[in-house]
Amino acid sequence: MTDHFDLVIVGAGMVGSSLACSLGNTSLRIGVLEAHPPQLAWDEDSYDLRVSAITAASQQIFMRLGIWEVMVAQRVSPFREMFVWDAGGDGAIHFDSADIGEDRLGHIIENRVIQKTLLDRMTTLGNIEFICPARLSSMEINTDAADLQLEDGRQITTRLVVGADGGNSQVRQLAGIETRGWSYDQKAVVATVMTSGSHRETAWQRFLPEGPLAFLPLSNGGCSIVWSTSPAHADALLDMDEHAFMLELTQAFDSKLGQIVECGPRAAFPLRLQYVNTYVKDRLALIGDAAHTIHPLAGQGVNLGLLDAAALSEVLCNAFEKGRDIGAFHILRCYERWRKGDNLMVMGVMDGFKRLFGSSIDPVRRIRNFGLDLTNAVMPVKNQIMLHAMGLKGDLPRLARP
Ligand SMILES: Cc1cc2nc3c(=O)[nH]c(=O)nc-3n(C[C@H](O)[C@H](O)[C@H](O)COP(=O)(O)OP(=O)(O)OC[C@H]3O[C@@H](n4cnc5c(N)ncnc54)[C@H](O)[C@@H]3O)c2cc1C
Repeated sequence: MTDHFDLVIVGAGMVGSSLACSLGNTSLRIGVLEAHPPQLAWDEDSYDLRVSAITAASQQIFMRLGIWEVMVAQRVSPFREMFVWDAGGDGAIHFDSADIGEDRLGHIIENRVIQKTLLDRMTTLGNIEFICPARLSSMEINTDAADLQLEDGRQITTRLVVGADGGNSQVRQLAGIETRGWSYDQKAVVATVMTSGSHRETAWQRFLPEGPLAFLPLSNGGCSIVWSTSPAHADALLDMDEHAFMLELTQAFDSKLGQIVECGPRAAFPLRLQYVNTYVKDRLALIGDAAHTIHPLAGQGVNLGLLDAAALSEVLCNAFEKGRDIGAFHILRCYERWRKGDNLMVMGVMDGFKRLFGSSIDPVRRIRNFGLDLTNAVMPVKNQIMLHAMGLKGDLPRLARP
Protein backbone atom coordinates (compact mmCIF):
# COMPACT_ATOMS: atom_id res chain seq x y z
CA MET A 1 0.00 0.00 0.00
CA THR A 2 1.39 3.38 -0.98
CA ASP A 3 -0.14 6.57 0.43
CA HIS A 4 -0.15 9.71 -1.66
CA PHE A 5 0.15 13.22 -0.24
CA ASP A 6 0.55 16.55 -2.05
CA LEU A 7 2.99 17.62 0.61
CA VAL A 8 4.88 15.82 3.39
CA ILE A 9 6.36 17.87 6.25
CA VAL A 10 9.05 16.00 8.18
CA GLY A 11 9.28 17.38 11.75
CA ALA A 12 6.35 18.78 13.75
CA GLY A 13 8.38 21.21 15.84
CA MET A 14 7.18 24.81 16.14
CA VAL A 15 8.16 25.56 12.53
CA GLY A 16 6.89 22.42 10.78
CA SER A 17 3.57 22.54 12.68
CA SER A 18 3.04 26.19 11.83
CA LEU A 19 3.58 25.42 8.12
CA ALA A 20 1.01 22.61 8.38
CA CYS A 21 -1.52 24.89 10.14
CA SER A 22 -1.01 27.64 7.55
CA LEU A 23 -1.98 25.17 4.81
CA GLY A 24 -4.99 23.85 6.74
CA ASN A 25 -8.37 24.02 5.04
CA THR A 26 -6.80 24.04 1.56
CA SER A 27 -7.36 21.23 -0.94
CA LEU A 28 -3.77 20.08 -0.43
CA ARG A 29 -3.51 16.67 1.26
CA ILE A 30 -0.70 16.97 3.80
CA GLY A 31 1.20 14.37 5.83
CA VAL A 32 3.20 15.46 8.88
CA LEU A 33 5.82 13.00 10.14
CA GLU A 34 7.16 13.44 13.66
CA ALA A 35 9.74 11.18 15.32
CA HIS A 36 8.89 11.97 18.96
CA PRO A 37 5.42 12.14 20.54
CA PRO A 38 5.07 15.75 21.80
CA GLN A 39 4.44 16.66 25.43
CA LEU A 40 0.70 17.31 25.80
CA ALA A 41 0.23 17.61 29.58
CA TRP A 42 2.25 19.08 32.42
CA ASP A 43 2.03 20.39 35.93
CA GLU A 44 0.55 23.92 35.62
CA ASP A 45 2.78 25.18 38.45
CA SER A 46 5.95 24.32 36.55
CA TYR A 47 7.50 26.36 33.74
CA ASP A 48 9.03 24.73 30.68
CA LEU A 49 12.83 24.97 30.71
CA ARG A 50 12.64 25.96 27.05
CA VAL A 51 10.99 29.29 26.28
CA SER A 52 11.09 31.51 23.20
CA ALA A 53 11.02 35.27 22.86
CA ILE A 54 8.28 35.65 20.26
CA THR A 55 8.31 38.76 18.05
CA ALA A 56 5.32 40.84 16.98
CA ALA A 57 5.63 39.29 13.50
CA SER A 58 5.40 35.76 14.91
CA GLN A 59 2.47 36.84 17.09
CA GLN A 60 0.77 38.08 13.93
CA ILE A 61 1.31 34.67 12.30
CA PHE A 62 -0.26 32.93 15.31
CA MET A 63 -3.18 35.40 15.22
CA ARG A 64 -3.80 34.70 11.53
CA LEU A 65 -3.68 30.96 12.25
CA GLY A 66 -6.37 31.55 14.89
CA ILE A 67 -4.32 30.20 17.77
CA TRP A 68 -2.96 33.30 19.51
CA GLU A 69 -5.86 33.61 21.96
CA VAL A 70 -5.51 29.91 22.78
CA MET A 71 -1.86 30.51 23.74
CA VAL A 72 -2.78 33.60 25.75
CA ALA A 73 -5.41 31.55 27.64
CA GLN A 74 -2.68 29.06 28.59
CA ARG A 75 0.19 31.37 29.52
CA VAL A 76 2.24 34.04 27.75
CA SER A 77 4.49 36.66 29.34
CA PRO A 78 4.69 40.07 27.68
CA PHE A 79 7.80 42.22 27.91
CA ARG A 80 7.71 45.97 27.39
CA GLU A 81 11.34 46.92 27.73
CA MET A 82 14.79 45.51 27.16
CA PHE A 83 17.99 46.46 28.95
CA VAL A 84 21.38 45.33 27.63
CA TRP A 85 24.72 46.12 29.24
CA ASP A 86 28.36 45.17 29.02
CA ALA A 87 30.20 43.62 31.97
CA GLY A 88 33.43 44.98 30.48
CA GLY A 89 32.52 48.68 30.75
CA ASP A 90 29.77 51.24 31.40
CA GLY A 91 28.01 50.97 28.03
CA ALA A 92 24.29 50.14 28.11
CA ILE A 93 21.24 50.36 25.90
CA HIS A 94 17.60 50.54 26.91
CA PHE A 95 14.72 49.80 24.55
CA ASP A 96 11.20 50.87 25.51
CA SER A 97 8.21 49.84 23.40
CA ALA A 98 6.49 53.13 24.31
CA ASP A 99 9.10 54.98 22.21
CA ILE A 100 7.66 53.41 19.05
CA GLY A 101 4.05 53.64 20.16
CA GLU A 102 3.71 49.93 20.97
CA ASP A 103 2.61 48.49 24.29
CA ARG A 104 5.10 45.61 24.22
CA LEU A 105 8.28 44.46 22.49
CA GLY A 106 7.26 40.80 22.41
CA HIS A 107 6.25 37.82 24.53
CA ILE A 108 8.11 35.06 26.30
CA ILE A 109 6.25 31.81 25.66
CA GLU A 110 7.04 28.29 26.78
CA ASN A 111 7.95 26.09 23.81
CA ARG A 112 5.56 23.37 25.00
CA VAL A 113 2.65 25.87 24.97
CA ILE A 114 3.42 26.88 21.36
CA GLN A 115 3.96 23.28 20.37
CA LYS A 116 0.77 21.91 21.92
CA THR A 117 -1.40 24.75 20.60
CA LEU A 118 -0.13 24.19 17.06
CA LEU A 119 -0.59 20.45 17.35
CA ASP A 120 -4.14 20.75 18.75
CA ARG A 121 -5.00 23.02 15.83
CA MET A 122 -3.32 20.76 13.28
CA THR A 123 -5.27 17.70 14.39
CA THR A 124 -8.59 19.52 13.83
CA LEU A 125 -7.74 20.18 10.17
CA GLY A 126 -9.31 17.64 7.84
CA ASN A 127 -6.63 17.82 5.13
CA ILE A 128 -3.74 16.96 7.49
CA GLU A 129 -2.66 13.52 8.69
CA PHE A 130 -0.33 13.59 11.70
CA ILE A 131 1.85 10.47 11.69
CA CYS A 132 3.73 9.96 14.95
CA PRO A 133 6.04 8.34 15.87
CA ALA A 134 7.43 8.17 12.34
CA ARG A 135 10.88 8.35 10.88
CA LEU A 136 12.16 8.10 7.31
CA SER A 137 14.30 5.17 6.32
CA SER A 138 14.81 6.34 2.72
CA MET A 139 13.91 9.13 0.35
CA GLU A 140 14.14 9.05 -3.43
CA ILE A 141 13.44 12.12 -5.50
CA ASN A 142 12.08 11.40 -8.98
CA THR A 143 10.89 13.71 -11.75
CA ASP A 144 7.20 13.66 -10.81
CA ALA A 145 7.23 12.69 -7.14
CA ALA A 146 9.34 11.94 -4.10
CA ASP A 147 9.12 8.37 -2.77
CA LEU A 148 9.47 8.01 0.98
CA GLN A 149 9.84 4.84 2.97
CA LEU A 150 9.18 4.98 6.72
CA GLU A 151 10.98 2.83 9.29
CA ASP A 152 7.70 0.98 10.00
CA GLY A 153 7.57 -0.09 6.33
CA ARG A 154 4.92 2.43 5.23
CA GLN A 155 5.43 3.80 1.68
CA ILE A 156 4.52 7.36 0.74
CA THR A 157 4.67 9.33 -2.49
CA THR A 158 4.40 13.09 -2.50
CA ARG A 159 4.86 16.07 -4.78
CA LEU A 160 6.95 17.94 -2.19
CA VAL A 161 8.97 17.04 0.92
CA VAL A 162 9.60 19.82 3.45
CA GLY A 163 12.44 19.26 5.92
CA ALA A 164 11.42 20.94 9.20
CA ASP A 165 13.33 18.41 11.26
CA GLY A 166 15.71 20.75 13.08
CA GLY A 167 19.47 21.31 13.18
CA ASN A 168 20.38 17.65 12.60
CA SER A 169 17.90 17.36 9.72
CA GLN A 170 17.68 13.85 8.30
CA VAL A 171 15.88 15.20 5.21
CA ARG A 172 18.81 17.53 4.56
CA GLN A 173 21.25 14.62 4.89
CA LEU A 174 19.20 12.29 2.67
CA ALA A 175 19.03 15.07 0.06
CA GLY A 176 22.83 15.44 0.20
CA ILE A 177 22.66 19.14 1.11
CA GLU A 178 25.83 20.22 2.89
CA THR A 179 25.95 22.60 5.82
CA ARG A 180 28.44 25.32 6.63
CA GLY A 181 29.19 26.89 9.98
CA TRP A 182 31.11 26.43 13.16
CA SER A 183 30.69 25.55 16.79
CA TYR A 184 30.61 28.57 19.13
CA ASP A 185 32.46 26.52 21.72
CA GLN A 186 29.68 27.55 24.09
CA LYS A 187 26.74 25.91 25.78
CA ALA A 188 23.55 27.70 26.83
CA VAL A 189 22.53 26.86 30.39
CA VAL A 190 18.77 27.31 30.92
CA ALA A 191 16.73 27.38 34.12
CA THR A 192 13.71 29.07 35.67
CA VAL A 193 14.49 31.26 38.68
CA MET A 194 12.82 33.62 41.15
CA THR A 195 14.58 36.87 42.04
CA SER A 196 14.14 39.09 45.09
CA GLY A 197 13.65 42.16 42.84
CA SER A 198 10.86 42.66 40.28
CA HIS A 199 11.73 42.03 36.61
CA ARG A 200 9.47 44.97 35.64
CA GLU A 201 8.34 43.17 32.45
CA THR A 202 11.80 43.82 31.06
CA ALA A 203 14.09 41.40 29.20
CA TRP A 204 17.61 41.81 30.62
CA GLN A 205 20.89 40.80 29.04
CA ARG A 206 24.40 41.20 30.43
CA PHE A 207 27.35 40.54 28.12
CA LEU A 208 30.01 38.65 30.07
CA PRO A 209 33.46 37.80 28.61
CA GLU A 210 32.43 34.13 28.18
CA GLY A 211 29.01 34.90 26.68
CA PRO A 212 25.69 36.68 27.26
CA LEU A 213 23.45 36.03 30.27
CA ALA A 214 19.75 36.76 29.69
CA PHE A 215 16.89 37.01 32.18
CA LEU A 216 13.55 36.73 30.38
CA PRO A 217 10.51 37.86 32.41
CA LEU A 218 7.74 35.35 33.16
CA SER A 219 4.16 36.16 34.14
CA ASN A 220 4.52 34.53 37.59
CA GLY A 221 7.21 37.09 38.51
CA GLY A 222 10.09 34.68 37.82
CA CYS A 223 12.59 34.67 34.97
CA SER A 224 13.77 32.13 32.45
CA ILE A 225 17.54 32.41 32.15
CA VAL A 226 19.76 31.65 29.15
CA TRP A 227 23.43 31.70 30.15
CA SER A 228 25.80 31.16 27.23
CA THR A 229 29.24 30.22 28.46
CA SER A 230 32.22 27.92 27.80
CA PRO A 231 31.33 24.20 27.79
CA ALA A 232 33.53 23.57 30.87
CA HIS A 233 31.85 26.37 32.82
CA ALA A 234 28.39 25.22 31.68
CA ASP A 235 29.11 21.68 32.88
CA ALA A 236 30.33 23.06 36.22
CA LEU A 237 27.14 25.15 36.52
CA LEU A 238 25.03 22.03 35.99
CA ASP A 239 27.06 20.02 38.50
CA MET A 240 27.08 22.51 41.38
CA ASP A 241 24.45 22.38 44.12
CA GLU A 242 21.47 24.71 43.95
CA HIS A 243 22.76 27.18 46.55
CA ALA A 244 26.16 27.56 44.85
CA PHE A 245 24.45 27.98 41.45
CA MET A 246 22.12 30.70 42.73
CA LEU A 247 25.05 32.56 44.29
CA GLU A 248 27.14 32.38 41.11
CA LEU A 249 24.15 33.47 39.01
CA THR A 250 23.45 36.44 41.29
CA GLN A 251 27.08 37.55 40.96
CA ALA A 252 27.25 37.01 37.20
CA PHE A 253 24.12 39.14 36.84
CA ASP A 254 25.61 41.85 39.04
CA SER A 255 22.59 41.50 41.40
CA LYS A 256 20.58 43.50 38.85
CA LEU A 257 17.35 41.90 40.07
CA GLY A 258 18.57 41.34 43.63
CA GLN A 259 19.25 37.83 44.89
CA ILE A 260 18.25 34.62 43.15
CA VAL A 261 15.97 33.08 45.76
CA GLU A 262 14.63 29.98 43.98
CA CYS A 263 15.84 27.88 41.11
CA GLY A 264 14.28 25.02 39.12
CA PRO A 265 16.05 22.22 37.21
CA ARG A 266 18.92 23.17 34.87
CA ALA A 267 19.87 21.95 31.38
CA ALA A 268 22.45 22.94 28.76
CA PHE A 269 22.44 23.05 24.95
CA PRO A 270 25.55 23.25 22.73
CA LEU A 271 25.55 26.31 20.47
CA ARG A 272 26.61 26.46 16.84
CA LEU A 273 26.10 28.54 13.77
CA GLN A 274 24.98 26.42 10.87
CA TYR A 275 23.44 27.22 7.51
CA VAL A 276 22.88 25.76 4.08
CA ASN A 277 23.38 27.48 0.75
CA THR A 278 20.71 25.34 -0.88
CA TYR A 279 17.24 25.73 0.69
CA VAL A 280 15.46 23.97 -2.18
CA LYS A 281 15.89 21.23 -4.72
CA ASP A 282 13.41 19.61 -7.09
CA ARG A 283 10.52 18.44 -4.82
CA LEU A 284 12.32 19.46 -1.62
CA ALA A 285 12.50 22.51 0.66
CA LEU A 286 14.17 23.15 4.04
CA ILE A 287 12.71 25.49 6.67
CA GLY A 288 13.61 26.58 10.21
CA ASP A 289 16.63 25.11 11.98
CA ALA A 290 17.01 22.53 9.20
CA ALA A 291 18.19 25.47 7.05
CA HIS A 292 19.79 27.78 9.65
CA THR A 293 20.75 27.61 13.32
CA ILE A 294 21.86 30.81 15.03
CA HIS A 295 23.13 31.99 18.42
CA PRO A 296 20.18 32.51 20.80
CA LEU A 297 21.52 35.88 22.06
CA ALA A 298 18.74 37.90 20.41
CA GLY A 299 16.09 35.15 20.51
CA GLN A 300 15.53 35.11 16.75
CA GLY A 301 15.89 31.41 15.75
CA VAL A 302 12.29 30.24 15.83
CA ASN A 303 11.05 33.65 14.68
CA LEU A 304 13.08 33.27 11.48
CA GLY A 305 11.74 29.73 11.07
CA LEU A 306 8.13 30.91 11.43
CA LEU A 307 8.77 33.50 8.70
CA ASP A 308 10.21 30.72 6.50
CA ALA A 309 7.05 28.69 7.05
CA ALA A 310 4.79 31.68 6.31
CA ALA A 311 6.74 32.56 3.14
CA LEU A 312 6.78 28.98 1.85
CA SER A 313 3.06 28.64 2.58
CA GLU A 314 2.32 31.79 0.57
CA VAL A 315 4.45 30.63 -2.38
CA LEU A 316 2.79 27.18 -2.37
CA CYS A 317 -0.76 28.58 -2.10
CA ASN A 318 -0.13 30.98 -5.00
CA ALA A 319 1.27 28.15 -7.14
CA PHE A 320 -1.54 25.77 -6.21
CA GLU A 321 -4.27 28.33 -6.98
CA LYS A 322 -2.80 28.77 -10.46
CA GLY A 323 -2.72 25.01 -11.01
CA ARG A 324 1.08 24.86 -10.96
CA ASP A 325 3.24 22.02 -9.62
CA ILE A 326 4.05 22.91 -5.98
CA GLY A 327 7.17 20.71 -6.05
CA ALA A 328 8.73 22.33 -9.12
CA PHE A 329 12.18 23.79 -8.55
CA HIS A 330 11.36 27.21 -10.06
CA ILE A 331 8.36 27.58 -7.69
CA LEU A 332 10.44 26.60 -4.66
CA ARG A 333 13.19 29.01 -5.72
CA CYS A 334 10.74 31.89 -5.04
CA TYR A 335 10.73 30.79 -1.39
CA GLU A 336 14.54 30.47 -1.29
CA ARG A 337 15.07 33.91 -2.86
CA TRP A 338 12.60 35.43 -0.41
CA ARG A 339 14.08 34.05 2.81
CA LYS A 340 17.77 33.20 2.35
CA GLY A 341 19.07 36.78 2.25
CA ASP A 342 17.14 37.86 5.36
CA ASN A 343 18.19 34.78 7.30
CA LEU A 344 21.85 35.28 6.35
CA MET A 345 21.72 38.91 7.37
CA VAL A 346 20.27 38.17 10.84
CA MET A 347 22.73 35.31 11.27
CA GLY A 348 25.65 37.61 10.35
CA VAL A 349 24.51 40.36 12.73
CA MET A 350 24.09 37.90 15.64
CA ASP A 351 27.48 36.36 14.91
CA GLY A 352 29.04 39.85 14.82
CA PHE A 353 27.49 40.74 18.20
CA LYS A 354 28.70 37.49 19.70
CA ARG A 355 32.26 38.19 18.54
CA LEU A 356 32.22 41.89 19.41
CA PHE A 357 31.07 41.27 22.97
CA GLY A 358 33.29 38.21 23.40
CA SER A 359 36.45 40.25 22.79
CA SER A 360 38.50 41.40 25.77
CA ILE A 361 40.92 43.46 23.62
CA ASP A 362 40.90 46.90 25.24
CA PRO A 363 40.25 49.14 22.18
CA VAL A 364 37.41 46.79 21.06
CA ARG A 365 35.92 46.90 24.54
CA ARG A 366 36.03 50.72 24.58
CA ILE A 367 34.56 51.07 21.11
CA ARG A 368 31.65 48.72 21.82
CA ASN A 369 30.81 50.51 25.05
CA PHE A 370 30.93 53.84 23.24
CA GLY A 371 28.77 52.30 20.48
CA LEU A 372 26.17 51.08 22.98
CA ASP A 373 25.92 54.52 24.60
CA LEU A 374 25.84 56.31 21.26
CA THR A 375 23.07 54.04 19.90
CA ASN A 376 21.17 54.51 23.14
CA ALA A 377 21.28 58.28 22.66
CA VAL A 378 20.22 58.38 18.99
CA MET A 379 16.49 57.67 19.12
CA PRO A 380 15.80 57.19 15.37
CA VAL A 381 18.55 54.53 15.15
CA LYS A 382 17.36 52.85 18.33
CA ASN A 383 13.76 52.81 17.11
CA GLN A 384 14.78 51.20 13.81
CA ILE A 385 16.68 48.48 15.74
CA MET A 386 13.55 47.88 17.84
CA LEU A 387 11.33 47.54 14.75
CA HIS A 388 13.80 45.07 13.20
CA ALA A 389 14.00 43.03 16.42
CA MET A 390 10.20 42.90 16.55
CA GLY A 391 10.21 41.50 13.02
CA LEU A 392 8.22 44.46 11.69
CA LYS A 393 10.71 45.41 8.95
CA GLY A 394 11.57 43.84 5.63
CA ASP A 395 9.58 41.94 3.05
CA LEU A 396 7.14 40.12 5.33
CA PRO A 397 4.91 37.25 4.20
CA ARG A 398 1.17 38.08 4.23
CA LEU A 399 0.60 36.01 7.38
CA ALA A 400 3.13 38.10 9.34
CA ARG A 401 2.03 41.58 8.20
CA PRO A 402 0.45 43.80 10.85
C1 LIG B 1 18.93 27.87 24.68
C2 LIG B 1 18.16 28.31 23.47
C3 LIG B 1 17.29 29.40 23.57
C4 LIG B 1 16.56 29.82 22.46
N1 LIG B 1 15.75 30.90 22.58
C5 LIG B 1 15.06 31.33 21.49
C6 LIG B 1 14.22 32.48 21.59
O1 LIG B 1 14.05 33.09 22.65
N2 LIG B 1 13.55 32.90 20.47
C7 LIG B 1 13.73 32.26 19.27
O2 LIG B 1 13.15 32.71 18.26
N3 LIG B 1 14.52 31.17 19.16
C8 LIG B 1 15.19 30.69 20.23
N4 LIG B 1 15.98 29.58 20.12
C9 LIG B 1 16.04 28.86 18.84
C10 LIG B 1 14.83 27.94 18.67
O3 LIG B 1 14.69 27.09 19.79
C11 LIG B 1 14.96 27.11 17.40
O4 LIG B 1 15.24 27.98 16.32
C12 LIG B 1 13.65 26.37 17.12
O5 LIG B 1 13.37 25.41 18.10
C13 LIG B 1 13.71 25.67 15.75
O6 LIG B 1 12.44 25.08 15.50
P1 LIG B 1 12.31 23.96 14.38
O7 LIG B 1 10.87 23.57 14.40
O8 LIG B 1 12.92 24.44 13.10
O9 LIG B 1 13.24 22.78 14.85
P2 LIG B 1 13.14 21.87 16.17
O10 LIG B 1 12.62 22.65 17.31
O11 LIG B 1 14.47 21.22 16.32
O12 LIG B 1 12.04 20.78 15.78
C14 LIG B 1 12.33 19.73 14.90
C15 LIG B 1 11.25 18.66 15.05
O13 LIG B 1 11.53 17.60 14.12
C16 LIG B 1 11.50 16.35 14.79
N5 LIG B 1 12.44 15.47 14.09
C17 LIG B 1 13.79 15.52 14.13
N6 LIG B 1 14.30 14.58 13.32
C18 LIG B 1 13.25 13.93 12.75
C19 LIG B 1 13.14 12.87 11.82
N7 LIG B 1 14.22 12.29 11.29
N8 LIG B 1 11.90 12.45 11.45
C20 LIG B 1 10.79 13.02 11.97
N9 LIG B 1 10.84 14.04 12.87
C21 LIG B 1 12.05 14.49 13.25
C22 LIG B 1 11.90 16.66 16.22
O14 LIG B 1 11.40 15.66 17.11
C23 LIG B 1 11.23 18.02 16.42
O15 LIG B 1 9.89 17.89 16.85
C24 LIG B 1 16.71 29.15 21.21
C25 LIG B 1 17.59 28.06 21.11
C26 LIG B 1 18.31 27.64 22.23
C27 LIG B 1 19.25 26.47 22.09
